[in-house]
Amino acid sequence: MSSINGSCIASLAPAQSQLTKRSATLRPSFFAKSRINSGSNIVPPALIRNQPVFAAPAPIINPTLRDHDMAYEEAVAALKKLLIENGELEPKAAAKVSEITAELQTTANGSTISSPAVDKIKDGFIHFKREKYEKKPELYGELAKGQSPPYMVFACSDSRVCPSHVLDFQPGEAFVVRNIANMVPAYDKVKHTGVGSAIEYAVLHLKVQNIVVIGHSACGGIKGLMSFPDSGPTSTDFIEDWVKIGLPAKHKVLAENADASFAEQCTTCEKEAVNVSLGNLLTYPFVRDGLVKKTLALKGGYYDFVNGTFELWGLEFGLSPSLSV
Ligand SMILES: [Zn+2]
Repeated sequence: MSSINGSCIASLAPAQSQLTKRSATLRPSFFAKSRINSGSNIVPPALIRNQPVFAAPAPIINPTLRDHDMAYEEAVAALKKLLIENGELEPKAAAKVSEITAELQTTANGSTISSPAVDKIKDGFIHFKREKYEKKPELYGELAKGQSPPYMVFACSDSRVCPSHVLDFQPGEAFVVRNIANMVPAYDKVKHTGVGSAIEYAVLHLKVQNIVVIGHSACGGIKGLMSFPDSGPTSTDFIEDWVKIGLPAKHKVLAENADASFAEQCTTCEKEAVNVSLGNLLTYPFVRDGLVKKTLALKGGYYDFVNGTFELWGLEFGLSPSLSV
């Protein structure tokens, strides 16, 4: 139905829902291929680490002058008076005033204190606004009124796989959910409501015509899924429980590729986990409705950033009378 030419490499894992295991066959096909990286010995960094990778949050935006009626000089004078009244003596007070007024000087100009991180964000937005926003007033004028994206996309949070970059989606074209290992959990009104609400909104309100789940090469989340024990105590607060959404894929890969290397098993699982997510999408009633009415199609994708390739396959959804919804 929505499949694209190609040979079948996978069917849904047996542990999937009643619906999926009996009715869905996934047919991947080669879709586009262009070499973007000639290196073949790249060892991508792992997403899952034993060490914390973040520090305690710190404010990066410094306060700005909010009282636009107060002249800058008046503000400095008031600050100086306040410091002197509080017992700050020259030259300490003077130094303090100089320090703070230098900060005010910067913020009073409408910018924040410079730092590489802030500069990157500021420069990035200036570039976007000058080169894109202001050059396409019709597009952004339309988008100001609303959105009607034809695609909903699930992609990994991995910084290398942004679907807007990889597939050249323009603003307004793709309603995107990104998470660890591009997982779609099965319908559950208690758990994973962030994903459920996004699917509900995309299908029922935005009326997207396609949901595309995109896996990728060297996925740290999938490597974690393949590495973590299936049960027992976890060593992470969230990650292990999350990636276990893909356990049916792991079990299928281990059963069918027992002799393959761990790296090969991970690569296969990166694709099988997409199939698990496509199967899980069928557990959402409004997704099934869309498929039955042919207003919605499901697709799997796989972006290999080591070899510069992209695969796309469709979900062949054969309805039988007993599975009518
Ligand atoms: Zn990933």
